[in-house]
Amino acid sequence: MNQIPEATPEIQEQIEPDTVRERVRSIRERITQACERAGRSAEDLTIVAISKTFPMQAIESGKRAGLDHFGENRARQLRDKARQRLGAFKGGDVTWHMVGHLQTNKAKFVARHADWFDALDRPALAEELDHRAAKNNRVLPCLVQVNISGEEQRYGLAPADVHAFLDHCARYDHLAVRGLMALASFVEDPEDVRGEFREMRTLFDTYDASNNPRVEMDELSIGMSNDFEVAVEEGGTMIRPGSALFGPRDYD
Ligand SMILES: *Cc1c(COP(=O)(O)O)cnc(C)c1O
Repeated sequence: MNQIPEATPEIQEQIEPDTVRERVRSIRERITQACERAGRSAEDLTIVAISKTFPMQAIESGKRAGLDHFGENRARQLRDKARQRLGAFKGGDVTWHMVGHLQTNKAKFVARHADWFDALDRPALAEELDHRAAKNNRVLPCLVQVNISGEEQRYGLAPADVHAFLDHCARYDHLAVRGLMALASFVEDPEDVRGEFREMRTLFDTYDASNNPRVEMDELSIGMSNDFEVAVEEGGTMIRPGSALFGPRDYD
């Protein structure tokens, strides 16, 4: 069954082109200000628009507002959306990121349809993705997910295990690790996660990739709707706003 959600009238209104354009404008302005505070260039920043649970119109509106990267957290929903609008690696005009936890038996959907996999967190999954990417004649760009909040129910590697896992990834010919990804603790005041973002930046900066041909540390994906300004100030290169772009979701 097709996993692309139907739009209710409320959702339809939230994702109208004009509404999304205005939200993108406002987010870009806040990014620019955060970059100025941090003395960095806003050009180095990629917005990965989290379109999960929204219908295709959200992607269309985002695209019209100048966004190119879209993120999904369920493999089948990503597959169905990417069938309707091809990812860049297949010659399409959007770049699809799978940002959610992936069961090993769904690795095939990601290898076939996603441009990026941003939640690599264990050897067995890397093994399967490598195998599936090889079958599809491609190299899959990945980010390694770190459990920076330390909460037990969260996915991702413990910070202390990240560098050893990056070393381990050298063996996968069809995966190209490009950096790290994390979800910070859910807090009301984004200042409270500044320390977690700093810790991510340190992990990112201190990995020596010079002897590892399959790893390049060029992307640090941190920051969502409520904490992206702090993420930008602390050196994130990709931010992942969802509700700040498309409004509230009925479910995750
Ligand atoms: C849902 C989700 C987001 C976006 O969350 P918002 O709070 O709506 O910005 C970002 N990253 C991941 C991994 C997500 O699952």
